[in-house]
Amino acid sequence: MVIVMDCLFCKIISGEIPSSKVYEDESVYAFLDIAPSSIGHTLIMPKKHIENFNEMSPEDAASFFKSVNKIAKGVEKGVSADGSNIGLNNGTVAGQEVPHVHIHLIPRYESDGGGG
Ligand code: ADP
Repeated sequence: MVIVMDCLFCKIISGEIPSSKVYEDESVYAFLDIAPSSIGHTLIMPKKHIENFNEMSPEDAASFFKSVNKIAKGVEKGVSADGSNIGLNNGTVAGQEVPHVHIHLIPRYESDGGGG
């Protein structure tokens, strides 16, 4: 696995910086966002350091989204959400602050009023 030592998320994946882990397998790591937009806001990322979505191979993207699908269903069930926003900020101009590709899984609840 490629670990980039000045990457915040690589440090979290390696355990150098603590996180509230939600899921881990050989290629994917997921943990709770430190500034959650809702209860259960989870960040899902490949362990391999890839800066943004465009740098992922089609094969890696397909495998990654298979994991996202599984984790999203598990998290929604775990926090009794009624749905979720699943998003990816791709590039600085799109609001990506941490240059290690990641999905935001933001559970939504009937009680939060819905909508965007
Ligand atoms: P944005 O901040 O615009 O959502 P990103 O898409 O790059 O930009 O998301 C980075 C996310 O990482 C933010 O939601 C932020 O709250 C989260 N974050 C930053 N540091 C930590 C940390 N140490 N542990 C958990 N989440 C973190």
